[in-house]
Amino acid sequence: MTTIQTHCTENLRGNYNRKAIQQLIKDKISEGANRRPFYIANLDDIVNKHKRWVELMPRVKPFYAVKCNNTEPVVKTIAALGAGFDCCNISDIEQILKLGVETDRIIYGHPVKDPDDIKSASEFGINLMVFDNEHELVKIKSINPTTNLVLRILPFERGSGDVLDKKYGCLADQCEDLLMKAKKMDLNVVGVSFQIGRSGFDVDSHLDTIIFCRRVFDLAKTIGFNFNFLDIGGGFPGYSTEGNPTFAEGAKKINETLDEYFPAEENAKVIAEPGTYYVQSAFTYVLRVIGKRVSDHVYDYYLNDGVHGAFSKTITYDKKVPDFRLLEDKPLVPFRKSNVWGSTLNPDDRLGQNIQMPELDIGDWLYVPNMGAYTTVLATSFCGTPSSNIIWMASDSTTS
Ligand SMILES: *Cc1c(COP(=O)(O)O)cnc(C)c1O
Repeated sequence: MTTIQTHCTENLRGNYNRKAIQQLIKDKISEGANRRPFYIANLDDIVNKHKRWVELMPRVKPFYAVKCNNTEPVVKTIAALGAGFDCCNISDIEQILKLGVETDRIIYGHPVKDPDDIKSASEFGINLMVFDNEHELVKIKSINPTTNLVLRILPFERGSGDVLDKKYGCLADQCEDLLMKAKKMDLNVVGVSFQIGRSGFDVDSHLDTIIFCRRVFDLAKTIGFNFNFLDIGGGFPGYSTEGNPTFAEGAKKINETLDEYFPAEENAKVIAEPGTYYVQSAFTYVLRVIGKRVSDHVYDYYLNDGVHGAFSKTITYDKKVPDFRLLEDKPLVPFRKSNVWGSTLNPDDRLGQNIQMPELDIGDWLYVPNMGAYTTVLATSFCGTPSSNIIWMASDSTTS
């Protein structure tokens, strides 16, 4: 573990120190034996994120969404901070339990679980699971009839024609029927969860859905449940972007809405499942140009990673051009009409089309900040691509 100052944290705060991160990357390149792409990961950044969360949303206990980045130093750091974990399946659960995390700091958050996983999780003592349909209830009842259950509802996402997250979550008008069925089955439903699926910080959807959760709490009371658990999911930003509310602004509104609709004296436990928020800004990705072609004043560049590697989410889900930065200062003009291609033989492995860029050369290094969320976990070995190294950085206080 190398000791450095917190360059990436400065990035997060907006006064990003370009020279410092460039120097760090250059040092790492000259130390490194090979010329493969790599990440620089700053664990201090994760620690600072956690501190900021606790400071700005003290009522909301974070349960980190493991699926976002399950690298061992990341989950270890978050475990040491005392946060909880949102796990998808038994392999997530085993990874977190091995760190010594208590079972009551884990939510089995997948609404549709493999029966074998329900059984193993129950044997481990996991006692909090999510459901959104009757068949799941029947399944859970046959395996672990006494577990605490959380009803996942579809969030209210304003102005969205296609509800991104339709795959999971019961509709508002199904809640009553489902809760009555759970009551008949003598199951123990303790609260509600939702997940805002959109990218960007959609604070209004959070607020609207929290308000709806209040109605579900009241409804549950009429059916004979005593709800005491609210899970407001993920969807919190990993860094500030133009045109989106900052984390602090959103947190303030969420706090106010919680205080109004779920007053503290009611003692409901409120959790969230942030993934992106914790890890996105901690990772910087470094890669280079390995090929070039110029024809008809169009410049094609071929990089040593692409859509099937670290850029899967950026390209296929966010539909953005990666935020490439040049490692070496070079003349920025004239701009050239350029295409940027990924490394695999898939003709659709493209990172940018018809974009304006300064001229690059084979061997030039590029870096991309904010690459900690849904990157390492989505990279494949397609076309013989090895997984990218991660260089871990932390101050001594984080690692000790
Ligand atoms: C993926 C996921 C999260 C994490 O979402 P982020 O936007 O990365 O914070 C939280 N909860 C659930 C249920 C998820 O599926």
